[in-house]
This record gives sequence, structure tokens and C-alpha cells, in this order.
Amino acid sequence: MLTFAAIVPHPPVLIPSIGKENIDKLKKTISALDILEEELNQANPDTIIVISPHGEINFEAFTVNTNEKYTARFENFGDFTTKLEFKSDLGFINQLKATNETKLPVQLISQENLDHGVSVPLYYLTRKNQDRRIVPINYSFLNFNKHLEFGELIKEAIFSSDKRVAIIASGDLSHKLSLRAPAGFSPHAKEFDKKLIQVLKKKSVQGILDMDPAFIEEAGECGLRSFLILLGAIKNMKYEFEVLSYEAPFGVGYLVGEFKFA
Ligand SMILES: [Zn+2]
Repeated sequence: MLTFAAIVPHPPVLIPSIGKENIDKLKKTISALDILEEELNQANPDTIIVISPHGEINFEAFTVNTNEKYTARFENFGDFTTKLEFKSDLGFINQLKATNETKLPVQLISQENLDHGVSVPLYYLTRKNQDRRIVPINYSFLNFNKHLEFGELIKEAIFSSDKRVAIIASGDLSHKLSLRAPAGFSPHAKEFDKKLIQVLKKKSVQGILDMDPAFIEEAGECGLRSFLILLGAIKNMKYEFEVLSYEAPFGVGYLVGEFKFA
């Protein structure tokens, strides 16, 4: 069964050795992640699926990392000591393959190193328990509906297994929220983040599908496709979306939110 679902941002500056003094600017996000970690531990999943924008992306297919074990390191960001290790859930991946048959293009890849879209959320969410199995998934650039469909497939696979599963949609919102933002400033960026949080709270998937593609493009987000897969996975389930934090101290929107099941 699906026991937990959440949206988590993934800036490497959240890692204390990388963020250093900047970490003070992420207080809201960190307190929200503390709460989320507790909630996750209460939900007690056997397996955590993490959907990331920053792994090996195939434009035409969703990719699932089937390596037997994974390592999270942050060397690319100047931290040469932090190292976390996780085991894969090959049983679940086989279930997902069987559920999919040939309905959607899914490519299996095998990589030991996790990208920061997976590593940063796991750093916070597995501090008390590193035994949970991990399934790293990358979104594609197929259309939004295909992402919802892929989420529904994941849900089918979850409900045909006897495991307790958590799903984490890793992603940041606009990267253009301030003049010093990494992707440059857009006057529409704030409106995008506000609108996206609004439709998530309203549980209006249609509200996302109806967004103007140019408006989305202009925002320079990386999380939307992760969120759509998650929304497909919880389709028809009763839930409320609770925003635990939202802040953008470096011009990038960081949202921590939990989908609370009734
Ligand atoms: Zn990102």
C-alpha cells in the first residue's frame, strides 16, 4: 500500500557541509523536513520511490535505476566526506515492469551513484533509518498526461505488492524568483509558484494541465514533472495537501509539502 507521499526540494546547500552559513537562510525548509522525516517514519514504508529531475534523463522514456545498491555523495558540490548507502528494491521494480508491459516507454538503467535530486531528500528523510529500500526514477519529456499515466502505473504496481511504499516527488519550483536567481529574473516567476501551490492545495490536476506552456517554460522550474507522476500515483485517493514550508532565499522556490491520506 501507499503510505506516504510528499514534495521535497533538493538544493545541495541543504547539506550542512555544503551550505555552511547559508544554511541559516533555509530554516523553514529544514524544520519542515524534520517534520516530514517524522511523518515518514510513522508511515513506516519498506520502500521509498524517489522521482528526480536530475538523473539520467531520456527525453522519450521514463528511466528506472535498477542497480542493486546506490551511493549518495556530494563531491560535485565540494563535500568529500558525506556518503550514504542504500539498497534497491528489485522486487518492486520487477512488479513495475510487469504492470507496465509495453504501455509506456520505460528504460531500465543501472547506476550506483545517485543524483542530488535523490540524494538531498534522502539525506534528510533517512537519518534514523537507512534500511528502507530505494527506487530512483527519472521523469521524461513526454507530455504531462504520460507523466500522470506513469504515476498510475506506479500506483498499480504498489497496490499489487504487499509492501508499504512511500513516494517522494523531488523538485524545485521557479529558478527565476529574484534578480540574483541562478536562471535570471522573470517577473512571472512568483505568480507561477503561487499558482502551482494553489492548484496542489485545490487538488486540481486539471489546473496544472491548463497552465499555459509558455508560462511554465518562463518559470524555469524543475519539479513539475516529478509532481505530476506523484499526482498520477495518488489519483482517486482521498487526501489533503499540506504545505509544510515554502521559501526562496536564493531566488529558487523550495516547497515542502505532504499529501495526507484520509
Ligand atoms: Zn532541480
